[in-house]
Amino acid sequence: MFDLELERTARWIRSNGYSRVAVQLPEGLKLRAPEISDALKSAGAEVIIVGRPCYGACDYYSDYKRIADALVHYGHSAMPSLGTDPDVLFVEARADCSVAGPLAKHIGMLPANVGVLASIQYIGLIPEAAGIIESSGRKAFISAGDKRIMYPGQVLGCDCSAAEAVSDSVDAFLFLGEGDFHPLAAAFGTEKELFVLNPVTGEMRSIESIKDRILRKRFASITIASEAERFMIIICSKAGQNRSSEAEKIADKIREAGKKAYTILLDEINPDTLAHYRVDAFVNTACPRIAMDESARFGKPVLTVPEAEIALGLRTWEDYQFDAIRD
Ligand code: SF4
Repeated sequence: MFDLELERTARWIRSNGYSRVAVQLPEGLKLRAPEISDALKSAGAEVIIVGRPCYGACDYYSDYKRIADALVHYGHSAMPSLGTDPDVLFVEARADCSVAGPLAKHIGMLPANVGVLASIQYIGLIPEAAGIIESSGRKAFISAGDKRIMYPGQVLGCDCSAAEAVSDSVDAFLFLGEGDFHPLAAAFGTEKELFVLNPVTGEMRSIESIKDRILRKRFASITIASEAERFMIIICSKAGQNRSSEAEKIADKIREAGKKAYTILLDEINPDTLAHYRVDAFVNTACPRIAMDESARFGKPVLTVPEAEIALGLRTWEDYQFDAIRD
């Protein structure tokens, strides 16, 4: 169902005369590495699978020239803020499906003014969804995002700027995609209700209860961290997740509050890479979703920067803010 564009990719390899090609896959596509490798070898290139974890275009393997002439990065769109490289091809793995039937069935759940959003795999369904919304007498709103966003209406787990741009005009958002990861970014980043339409199952649901459950967990972590004396601030070495200046600013605030702040540079942030450090809490300036969605895996609070400001008493609970990465 997801188009790996193997023929187009093979043509790109052949026409550019690449002899060694690195292939980077997100976790969900790693199963298909042998099939992709076989198909691309038919273009005459040696293929090297980049085995390290990959979660977004933010961590595309920029060192690929050490092992290959070119890089094919699957499953994400390019991130315009990181610039372009003619030897890197992003294959977005778009889904080949329609939302016409399910959306027509559930259209009554939507209010009069609807912002339409999608993850990259389903971004091509936005015009179809907007047409159905408009023909039901409602208004559809779709906007471009900031420099991390490739397409109008696209949402990343750390960037809901396309939703923010139309938030004042809409009563609710419709998100086309699977899972909670991407729609939660828009739900946290705007105050509007958000409905998720899964194009595969045809199910439509509100994400409000999941958002509330995560918020309660976040408040519990902030409460524990408010007693912390020693904080470790995490900077990520990945180009699209590096926020060193944010790290410096929050370190200053921690020290001004009379507490200790240490800074660590990491490539991968997980319970193992943090296990050895004797601090009371972490502040993560890398992918904000590690702190928000996965903190139950860590033995100590892992906060985003705005959450750390609440823990330090510099921001009110009512002013809780989603930690979007801004470029
Ligand atoms: Fe996705 Fe996190 Fe990277 Fe943003 S920073 S693109 S949410 S992996």
